[in-house]
Amino acid sequence: MDLRGKSAIVTGGGQGIGAAIAKKLGSLGANVAIIDYDRDTEAKALVADLVTMGVQGLAIKADVSSFADAQAAILTVLQTFGDLHILVCNAGINRDGVIWKMTEDQWDKVIDVNLKGCFNYARAAAPVFRKQAYGKIINITSINGLRGRFGQSNYTASKGGIIAFTKTLARELGNKNINVNAVAPGLIETHMVAQMPEAARQTSLREIVMGRLGQPEDIANAVAFFASDLSRHITGQVLNVDGGQLIA
Ligand code: NAD
Repeated sequence: MDLRGKSAIVTGGGQGIGAAIAKKLGSLGANVAIIDYDRDTEAKALVADLVTMGVQGLAIKADVSSFADAQAAILTVLQTFGDLHILVCNAGINRDGVIWKMTEDQWDKVIDVNLKGCFNYARAAAPVFRKQAYGKIINITSINGLRGRFGQSNYTASKGGIIAFTKTLARELGNKNINVNAVAPGLIETHMVAQMPEAARQTSLREIVMGRLGQPEDIANAVAFFASDLSRHITGQVLNVDGGQLIA
């Protein structure tokens, strides 16, 4: 896979899966802008790593739930790199609770970051991609967006929404040579999972037929495939990267 001459945005790139994606795209030759509302130190270190790899790196502090931030971030990337070809919408949060206890704030926060965050960046990038008749949009969903999960109605609704959104964008943008796909991770060893109760973690681990947690790099490898022209005839698809956690 060769991404030399390409420019990418990775939202939520300060740590975990997003950081692994940023590193992978950089290692394949892409300039990478990391969008994160937190993790400034990690994002700056990542930019230094990217420069060591011989590509450009850029850290932008922005909240993906803000459309104004998204527009400003895309503009900064275009001014810095000169172009944009790859958009990875990865930023995500969870605020778990069963439906009879979930607050409006828990619901709104998760939908605003996970689902509206994808809209904000796709909406801001689509005119750029359409004009140049080239673009790759990769949205990070979850296997739980396909099957539901106890205590996560907000999170699973956001991730199921991302899947429908991905399919619609694929239909709307395909005739401009823009591929839109989603990657659905199973349980991946990151900070998000470190916060899970041990019992829930063990239950998930028992589901994984490969018998191990996934690593952020496993997701990054799938994203790199969708970001490259090896997948140029694939669009509107969801690829589960879950060690067989969900075989439907
Ligand atoms: P993480 O919590 O380790 O990292 C998420 C990153 O996103 C952080 O750097 C955080 O600061 C950033 N972020 C959060 N809200 C933001 C906002 N409003 N604006 C900008 N940045 C924001 O999470 P992770 O495990 O690396 O997850 C990455 C993605 O993968 C998420 O969308 C998550 O839902 C999805 N996912 C993760 C798993 C897993 O097992 N870890 C499984 C399925 C899906």
